[in-house]
Amino acid sequence: MKRILIGVSAVLGLLLVFMLVRTLMVPAPAVEAAAPPIAVDADFAARHLSQAVKFPTIPSDALVKEGEQGSALDAMQAWMDTTYPYFHEAAGPEVFGKSLLFTWIGKNPNVLPVLVLAHMDVAPVAPGTEKNWTHAPFSGDIADGFVWGRGTRDDKGPLIAFLEATNRLAQEGFQPDRTIMFAIGHDGETGGSGSAAIAKALQSRGLHFAWVLDEGAAIRNEPYPGVHKPVAFLSVAGKGLLSLELTARGGGDNAARLSKAIANVANYKFQSGLDDIQRAKFAAIAPLAPFGGKFVLANLWALNSVVLGGMEAVPDSAAALHTTMSPPIMSAGGKDAARAIINFNLHPRDSLKTVLAQIKSAVGDPKVDVTERKDINSEATKTTSVTGPAFTHIAGLIKSTYGVPVAPDMSAWATDSRHYLPIADEVVRFSPYHEDQADGARLHGANERLAVSDLGQAVSFYMRLIQELK
Ligand SMILES: [Zn+2]
Repeated sequence: MKRILIGVSAVLGLLLVFMLVRTLMVPAPAVEAAAPPIAVDADFAARHLSQAVKFPTIPSDALVKEGEQGSALDAMQAWMDTTYPYFHEAAGPEVFGKSLLFTWIGKNPNVLPVLVLAHMDVAPVAPGTEKNWTHAPFSGDIADGFVWGRGTRDDKGPLIAFLEATNRLAQEGFQPDRTIMFAIGHDGETGGSGSAAIAKALQSRGLHFAWVLDEGAAIRNEPYPGVHKPVAFLSVAGKGLLSLELTARGGGDNAARLSKAIANVANYKFQSGLDDIQRAKFAAIAPLAPFGGKFVLANLWALNSVVLGGMEAVPDSAAALHTTMSPPIMSAGGKDAARAIINFNLHPRDSLKTVLAQIKSAVGDPKVDVTERKDINSEATKTTSVTGPAFTHIAGLIKSTYGVPVAPDMSAWATDSRHYLPIADEVVRFSPYHEDQADGARLHGANERLAVSDLGQAVSFYMRLIQELK
């Protein structure tokens, strides 16, 4: 017995030594020195973002009166035209319904063009939540160092920063070396039919991009619990989208049966775990962590469950582990049916087919039909290599603008770039601003806001992007 105990403690001791060695082998944090800043008038850009926020470009479904979104989009386009005349003169735009495509021809016709994406529509403000806003959602108030309002982060802030950068460069007579295109979708929040139309047109012209830069992850001020040094997350993959309609019919209490089916689906546990992207992300964060965090991150092979538990507790990080379900949208079903739309964001390990089968069996009621909304569904994207030109180039720009390390991540939603996958070598996703823990809830919730200083840096980021495009 004693001998067994000695043996066990020897093994445990060796294991601990091994784990400590792995912890000590985590490299020291690399020093990411930012390049000298480009002088940007951030207040000037903030006034423009404030004006852009005042256009209520919310989706045109039940929440807005017929035609209201259309007129807000038209008004915003006219405003962009007069506010950014030099870029408009240099680069277009072509009009695709309510979406726009700018083409800024480069000096070198022998290299593939690149594409930057943004969208001018914004998420709706859930009825009844207006009172939770410190500044009204479409006020565009500038106060306490922030521009306040729906869309300041998603995605009018980046959109305005890009236009400020291009307009200024065009005014200075600059011409990029490589052709850069800029697509502004009008329905990025609701499927991206505008981007789909642009992508289809470009494909028929035989166009192909070296890379596409879409909205995505941001610079996290606390990239891992206990790590208080910012790290930029650059997404190398995006989740898929499976949109389903559940219909309860057959008489009786359809609404109750539908609720039961939704509850069954919500309780369904999809396969979960760390994938290669999350492991690479943690390897990039580990050098910044205090000893305890470093010990865990350097020994994921043994302490996986500690990290998974922590991530599961926060919806933001849990989304990186598995397929997730968005809150259901109830729709009027008439008197003999009850209907709801449920969207699932698919982790790359799952496919539309497998998730559909899992949902159908989870519903557990033959009188509840499950139908796919095929026109907007898409598989999770392929993963862009962290050693490829897109990641290397954009990560370099982030480091020189912000002086922070860059880690790969996965976008928790399907964004417009999915429509361009067939005509792009690589896609990366980054939203140029800092993000605190609380900002995740602001994104589609109340009190969305963007720091004026972030907006100024975003203008520098895009200016560098265009100037250094060889
Ligand atoms: Zn967005």
